Amino acid sequence: MKIIMLGAPGAGKGTQAIKIAEKYDIPHISTGDIFRYNIKNNTELGKEAKKYMDAGKLVPDELTCDLLLDRVKKDDCKNGYILDGYPRTIPQAEVLDEALAKNGEKIDHAINVNVPDENIVERMSGRRTCTDCGETYHIKYNAPSREGICDRCGAKLIQRDDDKPETVQKRLTVYHDQTEPLIDYYKNKGIYKEVDGTKSMDIVFDDICNILG
Ligand code: AMP
Repeated sequence: MKIIMLGAPGAGKGTQAIKIAEKYDIPHISTGDIFRYNIKNNTELGKEAKKYMDAGKLVPDELTCDLLLDRVKKDDCKNGYILDGYPRTIPQAEVLDEALAKNGEKIDHAINVNVPDENIVERMSGRRTCTDCGETYHIKYNAPSREGICDRCGAKLIQRDDDKPETVQKRLTVYHDQTEPLIDYYKNKGIYKEVDGTKSMDIVFDDICNILG
């Protein structure tokens, strides 16, 4: 099963994607995590991506598409995968669809975790991210059992630079301009579904599982 998670930054799609990946035993692929891994390891890609990420902008498609296509070719993707944060532009979606079509494959579900803008800024300012495994928490709605420590792997939690309020506003604008058009793109393909992301994490998860079957 090949799944795409759509939604504004901070809608909770990353948290849900990790849970779905576990339940369906498929890899969770986050382009944001891949960029952050490269930044941490000071690679050329990391240095380039950081300039855009810190400004709340999208990393250019030229850097993003090949990276994603290489990742989904790996052996662990044979039974499918869940994409979190890709595609973020129509050209990214087209590149992926074309690559899949060459092998007679396609995306099965595009699920949008829908959260209005007014809820997003509050969510983002409370978000904390694991410096090691990338798991995300919220200081109010999904707090770790020990403050500042990841429940999953024990590493330190931080507030990402791009979750700071001034960057969040910029990321929301970018989302509406460049990513939201993907809703119509996947509606036209007949694979679009929406869940109400303002509900509790467990309900959102159940709603997504009901769609996936
Ligand atoms: P995320 O962890 O998905 O919120 O991504 C964090 C940042 O990484 C984004 O704000 C972008 O700057 C960059 N990024 C992640 N995925 C993509 C993508 N598919 N296309 C362009 N930029 C991306």
